[in-house]
Amino acid sequence: RAKEAGRDGYRFFTAGMNVQVLARLDLELALRHALEHGEFLLYFQPKVNLRTGRISGAEALLRWNRPGYGLVFPVEFVPVMEETGLIVRVGAWVIDEACRQIAQWSASDVGDVRVAVNVSSRQFVEGDLEGEIRAAVSRHGIDPTLLELELTESALMSNAEHTIAVLGNLKQLGITIAIDDFGTGYSSLAYLKRFPIDKLKIDIAFVRDVTVNPDDAAIALAIIGMAHSLHMQVIAEGVETPAQLAYLRRHRCDEVQGFHFSRPLPAAEFGEMVMANVAQPSEPEAPDSHRQ
Ligand code: C2E
Ligand code: MG
Ligand code: MG
Ligand code: MG
Repeated sequence: RAKEAGRDGYRFFTAGMNVQVLARLDLELALRHALEHGEFLLYFQPKVNLRTGRISGAEALLRWNRPGYGLVFPVEFVPVMEETGLIVRVGAWVIDEACRQIAQWSASDVGDVRVAVNVSSRQFVEGDLEGEIRAAVSRHGIDPTLLELELTESALMSNAEHTIAVLGNLKQLGITIAIDDFGTGYSSLAYLKRFPIDKLKIDIAFVRDVTVNPDDAAIALAIIGMAHSLHMQVIAEGVETPAQLAYLRRHRCDEVQGFHFSRPLPAAEFGEMVMANVAQPSEPEAPDSHRQ
């Protein structure tokens, strides 16, 4: 594996190296090229607040417009970037680009949009995440409360002390901290308690069959209950059906995100969706209604 190649960039080719290895090296080179040539872009998937039925923000999701290939999804290249460490530089680009987009929307009719970015553990350990975020926020002049970070449990598990300190500083700045894919990692609750977490994101694995599998439902309800008891917000990812939506709303999940509302969209389309305020499938429970 390329990870075992020299850190200084030297690689040794042997007759034993197979097609897969060469393809992998090709991909690495193409990814470095992509960063330098502006081939990455962000798509935005709406998050919907279940109390208001309105779009409450977006998750920024990385896409690669690879010449000759079309739009490439993270599953094809994020793991390679994680292994090679390229995710540190691309992750910094993601943060800057998200802040640029927030500023552009804020200055337009779209208005303030809270954008969540996915952050890799390597950005904490190897990069200067706090410095990069502060720089991006001030470079684009955005309100830092419009920025949210999504970290997985495993991201929190490497270098805990340092990560706790960085997250504490970012939270003081007004940034929201969310745990992504919650429930699939190996962290204990005692461990998580030490982090300044604002929001838990229920993994799609528990959402998929939440209305038909009692175990998944129990886990989803436990996460919602725990989040609220600890004064955290809770969001469900991967909501695809009206039944899942109804279940989550009934059990007081705060936000949802998924294909039921929208797939991830190019920035311009997301902006149009916000302006049209088509956060539709909400029940008639707007706070200004005269029921109760
Ligand atoms: P994630 O952060 O858990 O993002 C959610 C993924 O689920 C996205 O896939 C999204 O398109 C997909 N999704 C959304 N709604 C639904 C739904 O209703 N059903 C199903 N089946 N899927 C849904 P995507 O964009 O392919 O991203 C995959 C993963 O790649 C992300 O998972 C995240 O771990 C990683 N990723 C994406 N962008 C970045 C980035 O900028 N930095 C880092 N470090 N990782 C990223
Ligand atoms: Mg995420
Ligand atoms: Mg997720
Ligand atoms: Mg996920």
